[in-house]
Amino acid sequence: MARPITREDLQEFISLHFDRSEENYVTAETAVDPSDIGTPMYASPLIRIGSTDDALWEEFKKPGAIGSFYRAPKDWLPEAKSVISVFGPWSDHVVESNAHEKTYPGSAWISSYAAGGALIKRLSVQLADWLTEQGYPSIAPAMSKDFRFVYEDGSQPDVPAGISYASNWSERHAAFVCGQGTFGLSRGIITERGMAGRFCSVVTSLELEPDERHYEGLYDYCIFCGKCAKNCPPQAIDMERGKDHPSCDAWLTEMKARNGVAGCCGKCQVNVPCSRKIPRAK
Ligand code: SF4
Ligand code: SF4
Repeated sequence: MARPITREDLQEFISLHFDRSEENYVTAETAVDPSDIGTPMYASPLIRIGSTDDALWEEFKKPGAIGSFYRAPKDWLPEAKSVISVFGPWSDHVVESNAHEKTYPGSAWISSYAAGGALIKRLSVQLADWLTEQGYPSIAPAMSKDFRFVYEDGSQPDVPAGISYASNWSERHAAFVCGQGTFGLSRGIITERGMAGRFCSVVTSLELEPDERHYEGLYDYCIFCGKCAKNCPPQAIDMERGKDHPSCDAWLTEMKARNGVAGCCGKCQVNVPCSRKIPRAK
């Protein structure tokens, strides 16, 4: 019989393989600027749990949401009981490095986006594997061979028409259901520790007490101040329509060509009231 795994066990595992691991530091190999060597990429993570029985998962399949292309947790793992969402907030050093540069990404932001992105993805696989070894079959959907991302409408013959810039599993939608926070105008998730960071998630057969959602609407935590739109170098964010993915994507491609390391920007996540906390309307 599988031994019981508590939320504290999960937290310990995640922390050991993430913020407390030696991989959470910029190295001579990953640094874009030598002054960043030895600095942490992530601060301590926020972990939130959702139930696979939550009705919201099926809502994402509806037209106007992600669409029928989306796979709910039980479509990934029929015996699943819980979804674990992990938010890794960027460290102060990483956020400050990007906040100091108006147009181009800061050096620590670039190196952390590449190495830190790989670290949080690796964590999701390690967590799913560990839970499976403990007797609770689990999967990290975004790292599965069945994970799909569609850029252009009609570009993949087996994906229904009308779907673009969407994936069949979304870390941000999982975060919303699990209680991490709500969307902002820039389409990032505003958590208790703000928006500047990365997410991963694991779907597991381990039954855990779900977290409460302290919000109802998709955008409850956004105060629509428009700072993210003002900061966006290619003006990809509109106060009415939100983020235009192709414009953002073109800018990220340009940034990758410029820095040679990572297609990143993140100006909508720094120097904004939702960068490090839930903003409050004045
Ligand atoms: S900067 Fe303002 S408008 Fe943009 S996501 Fe944050 S709170 Fe919302
Ligand atoms: S990542 Fe950069 S280009 Fe994309 S929406 Fe945010 S500020 Fe704009």
